[in-house]
Amino acid sequence: MDIAENVASLRERIAAACARAGRDPASVTLMAVSKNQPPDAVRAALDAGLACFGESRVQEAKAKIPLCPGRARWQMIGHLQSNKCRDAVALFSMIQSVDSLALAQELNQHCEKAAKTMPVLFEVNVAGEASKFGCAPAALLAQFGELSRLPRLEIHGLMTIAPHTPTPERVRPVFRRLRELRGECEQLLGAPLPHLSMGMSGDFEVAIEEGATLVRLGTALFGPRPRREEPAVD
Ligand SMILES: *Cc1c(COP(=O)(O)O)cnc(C)c1O
Repeated sequence: MDIAENVASLRERIAAACARAGRDPASVTLMAVSKNQPPDAVRAALDAGLACFGESRVQEAKAKIPLCPGRARWQMIGHLQSNKCRDAVALFSMIQSVDSLALAQELNQHCEKAAKTMPVLFEVNVAGEASKFGCAPAALLAQFGELSRLPRLEIHGLMTIAPHTPTPERVRPVFRRLRELRGECEQLLGAPLPHLSMGMSGDFEVAIEEGATLVRLGTALFGPRPRREEPAVD
């Protein structure tokens, strides 16, 4: 795997999707999803010009981050358990996976204790898949007032994981719905929400056409993920 080559070709594909949608390629951030990847892969991605890394488990991130160059910026993209909130507040510069009011309140308390404010995205389960985390669109809108009043959380936008499909065109409505939901949240907030985190290796071009500002790419960047050795608990 030549990560620098992959970055170059992904940047071309991002630029082409932006061109189709009449967007500036600078409006799309390429996040490297480094879960299950070793520090060497992170170093290679940094050398190829990437700065923003996504991890989905606190425990793995806690072990890996100290082994990586300090210029890397880390964001949480996986389901966060309440007993991991304290570490998450210390480790990450953004938490994209805030999926309930209870979690938001817990994070707010830990930020308070750490005298920090945390940029967050709310994760929405747009397609209503039972296997996925994320709050339902109706719940997000119903709780948005309360969420937006948590003083230590800075709401930057929304995140979603589309259903897995070999035909990305089929998940276009999911991305479109997340963009519409962002508009509804902006109305409630009376302020703009800059970020739509949507699109992964198999569907990022369609996501960009629908307005993604941050695409989360793992496999397309690093190749197939090495399997984790530890048991699947976090
Ligand atoms: C693993 C993961 C990704 C990256 O998936 P790829 O298909 O390898 O690009 C993106 N977002 C989230 C939330 C993930 O857990």
